[in-house]
Amino acid sequence: MALTDTLGRPIRDLRISVTDRCNFRCVYCMPKEVFGRDYRFLERRELLTFEEIERLAGAFVRQGVQKIRLTGGEPLVRRDIERLIELLAGVDDVDLTLTTNGSLLPQKAQALRDAGLKRVTVSLDSLDDEVFRAMNDADFPVARVLEGIEAAAAAGLDPVKVNMVVKRGVNEDSVVAMARHFHGSGHILRFIEYMDVGHTNGWRMDDVVPAAEIVAAIDAELPLEPVEPNYAGEVATRWRYRDGGGEIGVISSVTQPFCGGCTRARLSAEGRLFTCLFAVRGHDLRAVVRDGASDEDLDEAIATIWRGRTDRYSELRTAQTASLPKVEMSYIGG
Ligand code: SAM
Repeated sequence: MALTDTLGRPIRDLRISVTDRCNFRCVYCMPKEVFGRDYRFLERRELLTFEEIERLAGAFVRQGVQKIRLTGGEPLVRRDIERLIELLAGVDDVDLTLTTNGSLLPQKAQALRDAGLKRVTVSLDSLDDEVFRAMNDADFPVARVLEGIEAAAAAGLDPVKVNMVVKRGVNEDSVVAMARHFHGSGHILRFIEYMDVGHTNGWRMDDVVPAAEIVAAIDAELPLEPVEPNYAGEVATRWRYRDGGGEIGVISSVTQPFCGGCTRARLSAEGRLFTCLFAVRGHDLRAVVRDGASDEDLDEAIATIWRGRTDRYSELRTAQTASLPKVEMSYIGG
C-alpha cells in the first residue's frame, strides 16, 4: 500500500542538500552578517558521503519517491558532484535534477550531463547587473549566469528552468524584463514569492510581491493564458504566452499555499530528514545509516517519519509564525 502521511499525502519528491556552503551571499538567503568568516559550516566528516546518499536515495525510492533534486547551499561547490550524479542516475527510474546559481555551469554542464543528469534549474533574480550583484552580494555578474544557462542548454540539460525570487522594492522592476528576455528562448522562467524561510532574512509580509501581481504585470505586455498542471501537486502554477512564446510558472507559496498537495521530503547535507521547508527539527537518518541499519530498518525509519507527518506551515502562516525559529534554507536545501 502507498505510503501516506496523516493528511493522506504520498511521498513523491526528495530534495537532497549536498552542502551547506555557497559561493554567493544572497541577502535574502545567506546574508554576510550571519554567514561570514566566523560562521561554522558543516565539516566534511559531518556530511553524508556519496555512498550514504545513494543508499538513502534508494530507500526513499522504495517508499514512492519518483523525483530527486540536488540542492544546497550550492550543489556544484561540492567536490566531485559528478560522481554522485552517476550513482543516483543508476537508481531505478528516478527523475534526477539539480538547482544551482549557475556560476559553475559553464565549466561543469557537459560533465553533469555525461554523468546522467537530465535537467537543471538555475536561479537568476535580475538581468540588471547592479541589482543582481547587490542581491548575490558576491559581485557576481549577470552575464556569467546567462553563460551558464546557455551551457546547460547546449549540453542537453533542457528545458532549463530559471528561478527568480521577487522581493518588493528590490527586484520587482526586473520582472517584465526577465519575461521578455526568456520569451521564445525555450527556457521556462519561474517567479517565486519571497518566503519567510529561516530566521536570518528579516522577512516581512510587505516584502512579498504576490504572484497575481507578477502575472498581471507580464500579461499587460506579453498576454498570457493559464495551462493545466503537469501533475497533481505541481508547485508552480503554469501560464503560457498567447503568441506561442513558451511558458512561465509562478510559485505562490505565501499568497496561495499548497501544503495540501505537498509530497516533498528534504534531506539535509548531514542526513537529517525534514518533512517541511519551515520545520524546526529534522530526523537523524545519518545515525541510522552509520549504526549499521539494514535496508529494511532504513525503509521502516523513513516510513514511520512520513506516516506521522502533520506539517502545513504555509497554510498556518501569520505575522507571528514568521519569527519562530526555523532552519535555514542553505542548510535544509532550497
Ligand atoms: N544555490 C542554489 C541556487 O542558487 O539555486 C540552490 C540552493 S538555493 C537555497 C535554492 C533556491 O531558493 C534559489 O532559487 C533561491 O533564490 C531560493 N530562495 C532562497 N531563499 C529564499 C526565500 N527566502 N524565499 C524564496 N526563495 C528563496
